Amino acid sequence: MIRANENYLKLKASYLFSDIANRVNTFQKEHPDAQVIRLGIGDVTKPLTPELIKGFHDGVEEMAHEETFKGYGPEQGYAFLREVIAKQDYQALGADVSADEIFVSDGAKCDTGNFQELFAQDVVVAIPDPVYPAYLDTNVMAGRTGAYEDGRYKGVVYLDCVKENRFLPKLPDRDVDLIYLCFPNNPTGSTATKADLKVWVDYAIENKALILFDAAYEAFIRDSDLPRSIYEIEGARKVAVEFRSYSKTAGFTGTRCGFTVVPKACMIYTQAGEAISLHDMWHRRQGTKFNGVSYPVQKATFAAYTEQGQAQIKQRIDYYLNNAAVICQAMDDLGFEYVGGKNSPYVWVDGDGRDSWDFFDLLLNKAQVVCTPGAGFGRCGQQYIRISAFNSLENVELAMSRLKEALQ
Ligand code: PLP
Repeated sequence: MIRANENYLKLKASYLFSDIANRVNTFQKEHPDAQVIRLGIGDVTKPLTPELIKGFHDGVEEMAHEETFKGYGPEQGYAFLREVIAKQDYQALGADVSADEIFVSDGAKCDTGNFQELFAQDVVVAIPDPVYPAYLDTNVMAGRTGAYEDGRYKGVVYLDCVKENRFLPKLPDRDVDLIYLCFPNNPTGSTATKADLKVWVDYAIENKALILFDAAYEAFIRDSDLPRSIYEIEGARKVAVEFRSYSKTAGFTGTRCGFTVVPKACMIYTQAGEAISLHDMWHRRQGTKFNGVSYPVQKATFAAYTEQGQAQIKQRIDYYLNNAAVICQAMDDLGFEYVGGKNSPYVWVDGDGRDSWDFFDLLLNKAQVVCTPGAGFGRCGQQYIRISAFNSLENVELAMSRLKEALQ
């Protein structure tokens, strides 16, 4: 008899974004003429920039000729891309990361989800609340948690991110082995300073723990004091893996490319206490289960690092950051408390005592604006909504003027 992985049955029944889609569809059926503006799901709306498209086309053209055609590529990514990443994303910041510590992939969702395979079943996992759901769900699927009760999985150490701690998790009050952190944060938009991250790096060193640091929104950082990489923190090479994505940076949500940095200094331990190279383990895992990112996509990604490519993607991100500023201004005008929207495309709005789904319904019904209810990201999100800056400026302005009219 073929048996199921019953850990899947522990997963919360429905997915946040399908719940939202159902409510929006019902609303649209009842109000066929309403022009709904979607500031919910965090997907980019602008096309790839010309320099990136040129890189893409060049890659496709090479595939058309016998002399330049590429078959299977290196699973870890082509050297031309890994080298430019190491140089421009890390060495330029003074962070000690080399090309062979970079693993190019088809995005941060897969990597943040797959990475937990390398750890023992009984490691203690610390996860922020609210959180990007993939970290939690993949640990549930792997059997590292108990049942879901009262909005939480048993066995997980939740790190509450609330107003009182500036939405930055505090060190746990019990020993943990694996720590997920994400800055600039999805969903709260909060950012961490070097001092904030140093506390976690020191904790990990002292406890032989490991930090999985998701920097998918790094490109939105404009404040020069904020760290762009965890490797700007002393000691992090020994205890942190970093995930990056071109999805929001370069508009690659449909194109698919990202990478993971696994420093050679990062160690993981057997039950007997013997140190093993995490880099070697991830290398082995990827070699067995992953066949690399397509050549044209890697060429398009490489184009994001040219002078023109950099200027064009900066312009795109500035556009979304301007949208975020419009949202923040509207929240100020309406007197709502919020965090994010400054070095981040997300604004996390305090519903002033409202339940997040009630707040969601209010915005949909009164202003035809779709946001994301905070409860979908964890129990600490129950009185918040997330508003995303990924839309056209016209739509964001229209949405904010409708909100002001409906709520003032
Ligand atoms: N990590 C965070 C925090 C995200 O918000 C997202 C996407 O929304 C991802 C990872 C996934 O990125 P990718 O598109 O590279 O899979």
